[in-house]
Amino acid sequence: YNAGVPGRVRVAVRLRPRNGEEMVADADFADCVELQPELKRLKLQKNNWDSDTYEFDEVLTEFSSQKRVYEVVAKPVVESVLDGYNGTIMAYGQTGTGKTYTLGRLGEEDTADRGIMVRAMEDILTEISLETDSIHVSYFQLYMETIQDLLDPSNDNIAIHEDPKTGDVSLPGATCVEIHDQKSFMDLLLLGEAHRFAANTKLNTESSRSHAILMVHVKRSVKGKDSVFSNENGSISHNSRILKAPIVRRSKLVIVDLAGSERIHKSGSEAHTLEEAKSINLSLSALGKCINALAENSSHVPVRDSKLTRLLRDSFGGTARTSLVITIGPSPRHRGETTSTIMFGQRAM
Ligand code: ADP
Ligand code: MG
Repeated sequence: YNAGVPGRVRVAVRLRPRNGEEMVADADFADCVELQPELKRLKLQKNNWDSDTYEFDEVLTEFSSQKRVYEVVAKPVVESVLDGYNGTIMAYGQTGTGKTYTLGRLGEEDTADRGIMVRAMEDILTEISLETDSIHVSYFQLYMETIQDLLDPSNDNIAIHEDPKTGDVSLPGATCVEIHDQKSFMDLLLLGEAHRFAANTKLNTESSRSHAILMVHVKRSVKGKDSVFSNENGSISHNSRILKAPIVRRSKLVIVDLAGSERIHKSGSEAHTLEEAKSINLSLSALGKCINALAENSSHVPVRDSKLTRLLRDSFGGTARTSLVITIGPSPRHRGETTSTIMFGQRAM
């Protein structure tokens, strides 16, 4: 395993601590998983007498701090974005297991709580110089194959643009806000959350049914490396004209809070629940196929199957870095969902 290899998905698993209800109702039952973080292993209870062992790139326990999770899951991706490469950080798991806690927590009361989005922006703002560089952010949700702007609710059907030559993906119709400081970024996240809540209320759905996607565009002006030329007589001269030409590097960081991976039980008779379920299955299974293809080093990554994977196409493979955190809960009641989350993570490796 090599942490820095582009094209390969780095997979971490994070266990949420028991919540109040689980502490009471499941007090007599052991957790369905047992973590061995030093060995980067997880033991999953198969039945009452047997368990299976799985390895991950990183195993984050219920005691892992947000800071540690950032360093393990996100920091290498953020650093490579600052170096000019595209990067993606995704959270996958059953609703209620900590995807939003891991990625989107603002930590307004206690900065130790801050999640990956806030910490990533802090690192980006620290690293770049706003005199020569710039940061632009868009924030949207993907619900039933429709992209809705979370920064402008009236903008509810954004098209994906794919550059036929470079393969670059962009959303020219999405609101793109320039960020100058951490405060304006936090305000934007809050605004996005409020709009997400309002949009989902209007659609009569839950936020767990849509993917929330934050796109951070970084433009950096880097001085060209000293170009060295060798003369015929073997002496070395520097070409000052080439030396001064700045190079503009563009890269983007995409942070994806995926829809809940749980099977949706069609208890309700509402037709739209079933359509929703199909659409979530479509995008998550398309995502699964793409990351399997990356894991298998396949030359064909089937990005065309869903909007989610089309959006991420320039963040898969090539020089892009991808990090996936799968979130699980400890409760034996959810062993089935936990197992399927672990399998998704395993197939990505
Ligand atoms: P999801 O986005 O996967 O549906 P949430 O992030 O909303 O899940 O988490 C569900 C609940 O569990 C929230 O109340 C959250 O604060 C809490 N939670 C999740 N992960 C952790 C954690 N690692 N430590 C403490 N509380 C957590
Ligand atoms: Mg959530």
